[in-house]
Amino acid sequence: MPEDTTTRSVIDSIADCRPMAVGIDYVKEPISEIFGCNVFSGRVMKERLPKNVFERLLPTLREGEPLDPSVADVVANAMKDWAIERGATHYTHWFHPMTGSTAEKHDAFIDASPDGGILTEFSGKMLIKGEPDASSFPSGGIRSTFEARGYTAWDPTSPAFLMENVNGRTLCIPTAFCSYTGEALDRKTPLLRSIEALSNQCLRVLRLFGNDAARYVSTTVGPEQEYFLIDKKFYLRRPDLVNAGRTLYGSRPPKGQEMEDHYFGAIRPRILAFMMDCERKLYKLGIPVKTRHNEVSPAQFEIAPIFESANIATDHNMLVMETLRSTAEEHGLVCLLHEKPFVGVNGSGKHNNWSMCDSQGNNLLEPGDTPHENAQFLVFLTAVLRAVHKSAEILRIGVAGAGNDHRLGANEAPPAILSVYLGEQLTEVMENIIEGKKQKGTHGGTMQVGVTALPPLPRDATDRNRTSPFAFTGNKFEFRAVGSSQSISPANIAINVAVASALDEIATDLEGRVKKGESLNSAVQTLLQNLFTEHRPIVFNGDNYSKDWPVEAERRGLPNLKNSVDALARFSDPEIVKVFSKYAVLSKREILSRQEILLENYATTLSIEAQIAAGMGRTMILPAAIAYQKKIADSMVSLRAALGDNADVSAQKNLLEVVTNHISRLKRALSALDEARSKADEAHGSAFKRAKLYRDTVLPIMQECRESGDMLEHYVEDSMWPIPKYREMLWIY
Ligand code: ADP
Ligand code: MG
Repeated sequence: MPEDTTTRSVIDSIADCRPMAVGIDYVKEPISEIFGCNVFSGRVMKERLPKNVFERLLPTLREGEPLDPSVADVVANAMKDWAIERGATHYTHWFHPMTGSTAEKHDAFIDASPDGGILTEFSGKMLIKGEPDASSFPSGGIRSTFEARGYTAWDPTSPAFLMENVNGRTLCIPTAFCSYTGEALDRKTPLLRSIEALSNQCLRVLRLFGNDAARYVSTTVGPEQEYFLIDKKFYLRRPDLVNAGRTLYGSRPPKGQEMEDHYFGAIRPRILAFMMDCERKLYKLGIPVKTRHNEVSPAQFEIAPIFESANIATDHNMLVMETLRSTAEEHGLVCLLHEKPFVGVNGSGKHNNWSMCDSQGNNLLEPGDTPHENAQFLVFLTAVLRAVHKSAEILRIGVAGAGNDHRLGANEAPPAILSVYLGEQLTEVMENIIEGKKQKGTHGGTMQVGVTALPPLPRDATDRNRTSPFAFTGNKFEFRAVGSSQSISPANIAINVAVASALDEIATDLEGRVKKGESLNSAVQTLLQNLFTEHRPIVFNGDNYSKDWPVEAERRGLPNLKNSVDALARFSDPEIVKVFSKYAVLSKREILSRQEILLENYATTLSIEAQIAAGMGRTMILPAAIAYQKKIADSMVSLRAALGDNADVSAQKNLLEVVTNHISRLKRALSALDEARSKADEAHGSAFKRAKLYRDTVLPIMQECRESGDMLEHYVEDSMWPIPKYREMLWIY
């Protein structure tokens, strides 16, 4: 077998890589000028639409009120003109099917004209509704292929935008995707419903506190996105990365993240050039990306935007992921969004910063200046505690996925046990309210809700507990269990529905007491005392990564759904179905369909991984190991021929035994893997059964294959090893 020198030539070619300049000049074109230039925003509409049309459209844009159909044609025409002036030839309804990515089907703005030429055409009807032939999107049984039609419906609350390509532009119209019977087939519809459900319950509480001005409450979200970048030439030589997004073989690098020299380190010029290119594209799309830095693991990075309303933040996060991916390719890199592309170093997540903001711009999780404001703040804070405690499983389901299982509970990410970090001061306030006793220390006095001021709460981000899955960070909560590749929609649907349900109960309790003549302050005092007592167990300010926590959590009665199959199995639990359907976020049928899609997705992901692991093991690793095995055996023969039968071949003999042993182990594991996979595939019955078989039988054998393969990597001659190694991929770029 010829020596494999390709990895060497890849390394040589990377040595010549320079940062790629794309001609950005912020002096000529400042951010303020390009920001949102590809967005058909409210500002553009105001400029381009007749005043009366724009005014009729405003409640739809801002609050999602039903669209006045008479304005649709005018809006469509203005949108088309704007897009065509900017070089667009096509439009697409852009939606979020249950595949986990976005979908688009492009149509040109043309129609045949009677004289044989063409006209440009885009009507209100085409803007509002699309009918993609959507039979191949997952529907989990809601829609059989013979009645395949689903339809897309314009979401005016998320602005249309132009997608740029080197050869032209396409107008993208954010849409919801539903079946003809009105069931959600996507990730946007239930998110919009959950935002509305939360808003309705928030308003009830605000009204109790005398706020009649707020017309709605929006969910605000700022997702911090982590990702890896590796050189594309390495990537293309790794079938596991290409097909599964994560490495299925590869031994830990001698140098991983132990030196802690990558986190916040100086960004390499080639990477910074990529980041700047991405940012400029995102600015044009009106996405307010703000932060960039090196993350903990080598070759790992983060990008974070300024928070926006949840629906737009979700659309924007999908665009951020897409832009990272496509721009990386242009720079000769590949962006890996998988939760755990490499074992032995940190995986990637998405910290989902979440809060609620009323229509006047007040953050409902911002402690106020007056005791009255603080009473209201504490009520909303308590609602979140109640939500996480009572709906921990709903939140866990919201982050389920095969990829995220490799990260949650590993030592870089929160465990699958949900708990809330409140911080010292707020925990003290909570305890004082529970016990109705005097404040300790400098704060003094009895904590009388609505009368006593809160002690000053720290806004400093530095001493926060980074191990908590759900941390209060001064004026928002940070849900850290979301996976890097996942849409943030399911996580936010889960938070919204859980908090809506808690607020509903809280509002009902308070309304009842006040109606009976109790003062609001006294009603709130009693409520907080009761709820803080009930939900004390969900508050945990300690180290969530410690070995003792799962034991302590179990004692507290907190659920620990360790993997996605267990989590998804709970989705159809009657209590969970009741919460989702009560607030009209997901019906039982929609839940069952989602459960099936997600379990199928889990099984299919593992099936693909198992096939690649088997293929790489059999056709890349074994041949390399056998070639090396032969090389050692040949060397023994040659030595004996040269030096006589007494030649010392003990080193070769020993090496040969070790290599032979690992080859046999790998071969056995590969056969077992095929067998387990066939059995899992042939298992008839529910998606749950298949997913469970994959989890319990296929996944452990894949791990065995990997162990033998990785041992061989330690022995086989470097130039004969057929796939790029961790120490190369993670550091050479
Ligand atoms: P880190 O957690 O890394 O210290 P920051 O504190 O800077 O990061 O903020 C993280 C994210 O939280 C940013 O996207 C920011 O815009 C977002 N954020 C800030 N306030 C809110 C809020 N009220 N609602 C939702 N997200 C918010
Ligand atoms: Mg953060």
